[in-house]
Amino acid sequence: MKLFDVYPLFDIEPVKAEGSFIWDKNGIKYLDLYGGHAVISIGHSHPHYIQKLTEQLNAIGFYSNSVKIKLQEELAKKLGALSGYPDYQLFLCNSGAEANENALKLASFNNGKKKIIAFGKSFHGRTSLAVAATDDAKILAPVNATDNILFLPLNDEQAFEQALNNEVCAVIVEGIQGVGGVYIPTVKFLKKVKSLCEKLGVLLILDEVQSGYGRSGKFFAHQYADVKPDLITVAKGMGNGFPVGGVLIHPDIKPKHGMLGTTFGGNHLACAAAIAVLDVIKNENLIMNAENIGNYLMQEIKSIEGVKDVRGQGLMVGVELEIPSAAIRNELLHQYKIFTGSSSDKNTLRILPALNISKTEIDIFLNAFKNVLSKQLIK
Ligand code: PLP
Repeated sequence: MKLFDVYPLFDIEPVKAEGSFIWDKNGIKYLDLYGGHAVISIGHSHPHYIQKLTEQLNAIGFYSNSVKIKLQEELAKKLGALSGYPDYQLFLCNSGAEANENALKLASFNNGKKKIIAFGKSFHGRTSLAVAATDDAKILAPVNATDNILFLPLNDEQAFEQALNNEVCAVIVEGIQGVGGVYIPTVKFLKKVKSLCEKLGVLLILDEVQSGYGRSGKFFAHQYADVKPDLITVAKGMGNGFPVGGVLIHPDIKPKHGMLGTTFGGNHLACAAAIAVLDVIKNENLIMNAENIGNYLMQEIKSIEGVKDVRGQGLMVGVELEIPSAAIRNELLHQYKIFTGSSSDKNTLRILPALNISKTEIDIFLNAFKNVLSKQLIK
């Protein structure tokens, strides 16, 4: 059997990783400023993470949601405390798409409605409703197409006010748009969305799959706007590479047995990974580090010639260049051995390092980036 060839691959085979570095099979060392799509939050192979997962694997790795799993309660308690949502409920699943699919489904179960408002440049995943709420026709199969989703421009208060009515079930918005090119909903816009939703009984879903877990310099990016969503979705950084996702659910939304479900969600190993991540974020002050290093990175990168715009919060940074970013990314990777990310904006690259990256490591990138950009601009 061969692999179903859906991914364009770099010809690099990582075999070892530690902190913000990766080694390939030839022993070549790379600086990782992308964390495999914003997944690595506490750094590769963190000792506490390895210890927790190893201990758990030696005890029990998996049982389904038909028995008590104490670790789920520990995870919910720690996540509630660190995120500032101690009174919310937690539903555990396995990925970002699944978290959004469940949040949308739950919203509809809750108010009985079915129209969803999403935004231009959004990305919410590839399951049926999540992909329908994603602004990318290329990944929408005919069977996923639905007229239940309405796309509006992000940060357009007037368009939002006009579109909202009694038929709308939920609004789904990313804390910071990631795949779309790092666009931030303004504080004013989020506050307006929240207050209008509240008036009409529309549920507000904040997709924090990429922007959450401390990456923005707050636990959740929407906390800059000081709004409380009805549902918050998480994944990516939650497990530092172990597949785990979740939905944080407002206390007014009542559960019913059988309403949602998953075989693997919340298994012992996933919980051990997610608990280890929260421990490290808290004990090593990683949210503060994300804010400080992120500010430093954005400040320094702004003044580099060839940079048109820098958008972001904390360590979720989009750098818009005056030229397409593909050649710059390739040179960074192959010449300077630095991983960065692309976005659907062809001129914007994404910088999504581990939250414990140091200033010295960021300086390695800044020097390389200056060299690569100045060479490309001369061409
Ligand atoms: N939501 C956001 C904001 C994302 O960036 C992504 C993935 O990039 C997803 C959802 C989907 O997550 P997953 O790939 O884990 O299904």
